[in-house]
Amino acid sequence: MELKFDVVVVGAGHAGCEAATAAAKLGAKTCLITMDMNKIAQMSCNPAIGGIAKGQIVREIDALGGHTGEVTDATAIQFRMLNRSKGPAMWSPRAQCDRGKFIWAWREVLENTPNLSIWQDQVVELLTDKTQTSNATIANVKRDDCKCHVSGLRTMLGVIFKAPCVIITAGTFLNGLMHIGRTQIPGGRCAELPSLHLSESIAAQGITVGRMKTGTPVRIDGRSVDFSLMQEQEGEQDFHKFSYMGEPRQLPQLPCWITYTNEQVHDRLRAALPDSPLYNGQIQSIGPRYCPSIETKLVTFSQRTEHQLFLEPEGTSTNEYYLNGFSSSLPIDAQIEALKLIPAFRNLQVYRPGYAIEYDYFDPTQLRHSLESKIVDGLFMAGQVNGTTGYEEAAGQGLVAGVNAARKLAGQEPFVMRRDESYIGVLIDDLVTKGVDEPYRMFTSRAEYRILLRQDDADARLTERSYEMGLASRERYEHWLRKKQTINEIEEFCNSFSVKAALINPGLKALGSEELQRGCKLIDLVMRPQLNLSNLAILIPTLSDKLNSIKDRREEIIEAAEVRMKYSGYIRREKEIAEKIQRLENIRIKGRFNYEDIKSLSTEARQKLTKIDPETMAQASRIPGVSPSDINVLLVMMNR
Ligand SMILES: Cc1cc2nc3c(=O)[nH]c(=O)nc-3n(C[C@H](O)[C@H](O)[C@H](O)COP(=O)(O)OP(=O)(O)OC[C@H]3O[C@@H](n4cnc5c(N)ncnc54)[C@H](O)[C@@H]3O)c2cc1C
Repeated sequence: MELKFDVVVVGAGHAGCEAATAAAKLGAKTCLITMDMNKIAQMSCNPAIGGIAKGQIVREIDALGGHTGEVTDATAIQFRMLNRSKGPAMWSPRAQCDRGKFIWAWREVLENTPNLSIWQDQVVELLTDKTQTSNATIANVKRDDCKCHVSGLRTMLGVIFKAPCVIITAGTFLNGLMHIGRTQIPGGRCAELPSLHLSESIAAQGITVGRMKTGTPVRIDGRSVDFSLMQEQEGEQDFHKFSYMGEPRQLPQLPCWITYTNEQVHDRLRAALPDSPLYNGQIQSIGPRYCPSIETKLVTFSQRTEHQLFLEPEGTSTNEYYLNGFSSSLPIDAQIEALKLIPAFRNLQVYRPGYAIEYDYFDPTQLRHSLESKIVDGLFMAGQVNGTTGYEEAAGQGLVAGVNAARKLAGQEPFVMRRDESYIGVLIDDLVTKGVDEPYRMFTSRAEYRILLRQDDADARLTERSYEMGLASRERYEHWLRKKQTINEIEEFCNSFSVKAALINPGLKALGSEELQRGCKLIDLVMRPQLNLSNLAILIPTLSDKLNSIKDRREEIIEAAEVRMKYSGYIRREKEIAEKIQRLENIRIKGRFNYEDIKSLSTEARQKLTKIDPETMAQASRIPGVSPSDINVLLVMMNR
């Protein structure tokens, strides 16, 4: 059987779902092929979306018209805004989700997207117009030699999918190998088949393949846990959520629970270290530094006498709990016996053991910012296959790959977000410029313009641009325009409204804020740390009337206006820096130099510039190993 599509997406994980819906919404006839339709958007590890910097990515996906945010809101069973004690640049939403409902919410989105077909099968071969069978790598193959075009895919069931654009989002499945103690099981995820042959057929085109690993903890039967011996952690019930659209959160909110390991637990785990695949040489590949296994924590922080564990519910209609902080690939008996030494787990029953998994990924420096391969025309890659870790990182890349596949077919310029425009822009620029030597996860510290990339203003940054390219709906766009207008009105009011010292001083004193010597504009009070629009509204009836006149999304709009006013100085300063850097960003250098011939560049710079082939002078300056003096050499040559 042979089927024809404009875009075929391989894998319905977080990247694949966003990629497929984005391509289809932009008019491309799209097919999403996945190994198991009942595991669409499965959360392989903990059932939670967002967190520090990851939450911002989900807000950006939503502002662009993607779906991860609305699916999260519809299935959230605990919501928290992390980092509230810090400035708003650091605030990050996080939600615990009902794992099963998350899958079905995504399926509903996919099945209701026009232009989008779904096919359950395993892709085993990438087809190109010039299939290479050698073991070529980018290091020994000249780019022009291996340049070829995608023509489609072949599946395990023998179906040929013809398509000018293919997006690979195969996650942890490529040659996946799971480890529990000395037991090794081929698989893409617990109880799921690995994806075989596809990696090799992609590598045969000259694309470099590497190996990484990750791990997950035990899942626990809640009926066996003594919750009275743990600390309860409630979620928040306020207006915050992920999507700028849609209804407030619907599902009942459930608590998480906190407990700690102890020295006895550590002793039992240490005794099993000789059987640990991480320490007996069985696993060679590198895992995510910031999600270490419990055995890695014991070895790295050997002086610690306890480690915090979070027991997180998996859903509203299950007893299953995820034990965050106890990722492990130790033998099953060691995992269970160690946990039973924690008082709350004395009668522990485990549903599924923890395990580690090794899988293939592709060198992301062989991609352009559009996430299209530099080697195989029409081949896009997104998610874990690019060396990242995390649902949010995957979903953000998926959306960009889906948009760019559709734009390529329409003969349009690639959609690329700048580093001062989104965390997704930072993520992709880091991947294609610096590459990865360990699983890449997003942190606020990776972004140089943190105050410009806040969770509250992703719509301000991205919705208009997305609407112009046809992704964000008209409804979303108008929703944003109404919000923008109201924020502007609040700001104008605060800039023009005069406050009389005598009238406001008693209230200021009560709020612990310094009294005024003379009248001032309302904005001057809004800027004070102890004051905000809500407590000022109690003192100033005109402000109260103004805020009460906002009928729709009042709290969200007030917060957005307040953050914009309070941090206006920092925002202005970061914008100025970003504009200066933008000058280097505007100097396009792709194809203008033969770096090998520029002897005044350092050897490392010559090699790295040749490999990455940067689009702009700014991207060149971010390549590790390219120094400011190398950039000066290029600038001088440009001037000549
Ligand atoms: C055991 C484990 C532990 C993890 N722990 C963490 C963690 O602690 N922290 C963290 O941030 N992330 C963790 N992750 C990673 C997280 O699950 C991924 O980052 C995220 O799911 C990546 O999304 P994705 O869309 O790229 O791929 P996935 O979610 O893996 O989805 C891939 C999809 O592709 C399909 N597929 C694969 N090959 C084929 C094929 N040939 N044909 C058709 N369909 C195919 C699969 O069926 C699946 O639906 C863990 C993953 C695993 C498996």
